[in-house]
Amino acid sequence: MAKTIKATFARGARRVTGSNFLFEIEDNPSATLGAGGKTTRILIDCGLSQGERFCELTNSQPFSYDPKTVDAIFFTHAHADHIGLFPRLVKEGFVGKAYATVATKELMPIMLEDSVQLIALEAKRCNNEPPYDGEDVARAVEHITALDYHSPVSVAPGITVTLYNAGHILGSALVVLDIDGRRIVMTGDLGRVPSALVPDHEVPEGTEILVTESVYGNRTHGSIEDSKEALLEAVRGAVAKKGTLLIPAFSLERTQIILSIIDAAMSAGTLPSIPVFMDSPLAAKVTAVYKRHPEFLREEIRKRLEGGDDPFAFPSLKVTLRPDESPAISKVPGPKVIIAGAGMSHGGRIKKHEAEYLPHKETTILLVGYQVPGSLGRRIMDGAKEVDIDGQKIKIRAKVLKVGGFSAHADRDDLMDFAEKIAPKRAFVVLGETEGATFLAQRISGFFDIPVDVPREGEVYEL
Ligand SMILES: [Zn+2]
Repeated sequence: MAKTIKATFARGARRVTGSNFLFEIEDNPSATLGAGGKTTRILIDCGLSQGERFCELTNSQPFSYDPKTVDAIFFTHAHADHIGLFPRLVKEGFVGKAYATVATKELMPIMLEDSVQLIALEAKRCNNEPPYDGEDVARAVEHITALDYHSPVSVAPGITVTLYNAGHILGSALVVLDIDGRRIVMTGDLGRVPSALVPDHEVPEGTEILVTESVYGNRTHGSIEDSKEALLEAVRGAVAKKGTLLIPAFSLERTQIILSIIDAAMSAGTLPSIPVFMDSPLAAKVTAVYKRHPEFLREEIRKRLEGGDDPFAFPSLKVTLRPDESPAISKVPGPKVIIAGAGMSHGGRIKKHEAEYLPHKETTILLVGYQVPGSLGRRIMDGAKEVDIDGQKIKIRAKVLKVGGFSAHADRDDLMDFAEKIAPKRAFVVLGETEGATFLAQRISGFFDIPVDVPREGEVYEL
């Protein structure tokens, strides 16, 4: 008996964040009985919307479906914009099954603790009640079942879901839905090729419908080799000036990429051993998960770890966990490196270091990730001579450098290459700003001569 499939692009359509997609599969009503069949509801991701300036677009907005009716949710990976609203889903009555890879499952409580603070700040700014709290997080993470790649889960008769490696961050997955012989692939965030730390993404065969991300749908990245060299040059520059190198970095994946590059160069003797501070308890917890799961790492990184050379640690690395250890970093004379979150300097410990070091010309600040317009990081990147940090006017005399090659996202060419290998008969482009999503949609539709849509949030398509 054929089934009908409806896809609702609840959130994460025509924007980068807020990943949340609903698939409703209905057993076809019998023509003779005239009765509707059973409906199975599968969600992919339940993420935070981030960087929204308008309170009507916040994470307190109601879900467009009833959480109580969802049978199963599959998480693509542990970034907040893919998992950060799950505690609210549970709070509002979700009682279905929840699946993620074991690495994602272990990263989720760590990342959700951070999301609690983000949504509390947002709720305060918008005069809302926070949509969930720490207790909701604890309840939510108990729901999750770990799933290996390539192990199909039967959600209902004729409906199975399988996770494949997405090559984006530790434990990231493509979600593959098989419904009565029809295959749908949802990328989540797709990794670039080659990826820095995790194995390159897989390409599931026999796909009919592709739902692809498009964060960099119309842009290309610098090469990772050039970015590595730029990072090492920045460290050498700090040595020459006896100054401080500040690196605001996201705690999940970006910080580990930077540590692994510094570790390799110091081990090889191509970089002098200077003090490197990782001033981030969040990054420390995340790094511990990386070390517990070498099976999710690229072969060369895994071999370093298994051979006793921890790729995320070296003798001059100091990890500061408690807030009272953070000021002690000031007492250590340059040259030194300080890595801290948040990646766009919109919070976290990096701001204190920026207030202290940006006025000095011996300082270099290296921006290794995307800086959203309006963020402190963006103002620094755009060459501001003075910025406001927690009410203090801070002069910027530091040297400002930027590298683009550490992104964990597929770029324009990687996305198209993936679509070409998948060779779908129909496609939807999501998780990107309209311009990038439309650009990618036109390329895919031009290449295959197939229907490709760029859905709007809330739109429903019959597949
Ligand atoms: Zn991601």
